[in-house]
Amino acid sequence: MLDFSFSEEQNLIRQSAREFCQKEIAPKIKEMISKRRIPDSIFSGLARMGYLGMTVPEKYGGMGADAVTTGLVAEEIGRADPTASIPVLFLVDNAWSYLVSKYGTDHLKESVLPGIAKGSSLMGIASTEPDFGSDIGSMKSHARETKSGFEVHADKSFISLVRDIKERGGGYVTVVKTKPDAGTSGTSLLYLPHSEKLEISYLEEMGREGSSWGAFKTDGAIVPKENLIGKLNGGFKIIHEGFEFARGLIAVIAGGSAQASIERGISYMKTRKAFGKEIARYQGLQFDLASDVARMETALLMGYKSLWMYDQEQKFGKFSRFEVSKNIAIAKLVATTWGFDAINDALQWQGAYGYSKECPEEWALRGIRSFMLAEGSREIMKLIIARETLGKEYTR
Ligand SMILES: Cc1cc2nc3c(=O)[nH]c(=O)nc-3n(C[C@H](O)[C@H](O)[C@H](O)COP(=O)(O)OP(=O)(O)OC[C@H]3O[C@@H](n4cnc5c(N)ncnc54)[C@H](O)[C@@H]3O)c2cc1C
Repeated sequence: MLDFSFSEEQNLIRQSAREFCQKEIAPKIKEMISKRRIPDSIFSGLARMGYLGMTVPEKYGGMGADAVTTGLVAEEIGRADPTASIPVLFLVDNAWSYLVSKYGTDHLKESVLPGIAKGSSLMGIASTEPDFGSDIGSMKSHARETKSGFEVHADKSFISLVRDIKERGGGYVTVVKTKPDAGTSGTSLLYLPHSEKLEISYLEEMGREGSSWGAFKTDGAIVPKENLIGKLNGGFKIIHEGFEFARGLIAVIAGGSAQASIERGISYMKTRKAFGKEIARYQGLQFDLASDVARMETALLMGYKSLWMYDQEQKFGKFSRFEVSKNIAIAKLVATTWGFDAINDALQWQGAYGYSKECPEEWALRGIRSFMLAEGSREIMKLIIARETLGKEYTR
């Protein structure tokens, strides 16, 4: 039986997320852009609402939220913050702390998750390196096993949240080689807490004005053996569960952001007059609007379907990993591509004002662009879809 409705509890969570986001996030976006940081009041509000670490199990102080419910909050945050700064904080922190909740040792979970659930520390992902991004098997960062743990030698770049993690505390799910020359089969995941052993540098980016982005290097940070996430040399097998959760959240965030742009575009169209009538009366614009509405409805449907499949697979093993990967890749691909086009159309409907720094569509266009690369590029989404459609033998 098909049932497309959310539960009563999920509807309530969405309602309170919408109220919070519209009251406490949306009015502060201009301040965030000018100061280039997320205001402290938003951090404390997100923590108060339980949105930081909302997937952390109740045992460690979190909500233990599933992927669909996390998606509902993500969509509302995406609607409220067109720059994608707060969405990226939300999605990275939740998706990667989920992976620690699932595969971390008891010691790691006890020492890290309560802080994540309170919002007093944050979880990042450190996979990309200066020379390798999509090609995880070729990375150079490595860790040497010692008697009590690991000595980490890592050079990670293009990492989100570096300043936030440095200032607020927390660490990274870090991808390292533990068996050199074994490709993806020699890859492990370690929780690397921020410390003075990490040399941080910052990068300026195109959008996400409130967020932080940069790199870190370490030549010998020591982490205890309890910081291993999953099995030694088994990192590649589980890392996709973190990426997929993050990609599903990106799909609904992009959907929320684009829908908010369409709504602002509609308000403008209904009041702006050209050649004696409101521009909403021109079929040339109506056709663009109709396409954007149809595409974003479809993208959100696909986003929630893929998050639901993720939950079913994670909880009940109902779908295969590959079915989930494919559906999530479709959701991320269409939501970010169509979302970018819809925001671009909404900017166009607003004429010269749309192009100005005053207009949220100018912020949103730069914000959504980040999602075509982060957590797996648009081409990697296509590779996954092609591989699962044609068969692996056609993509080697
Ligand atoms: C805003 C932003 C935030 C990010 N945050 C993080 C973070 O928090 N942590 C982290 O680890 N990384 C982060 N990244 C890095 C991101 O994950 C990488 O940019 C992404 O994985 C692509 O890697 P790359 O940039 O090295 O490009 P490459 O892998 O070098 O690829 C270059 C281009 O070639 C394409 N390409 C590569 N292989 C193929 C192929 N087989 N077929 C067709 N096309 C291909 C890619 O899609 C891309 O367009 C972030 C990136 C951005 C833009």
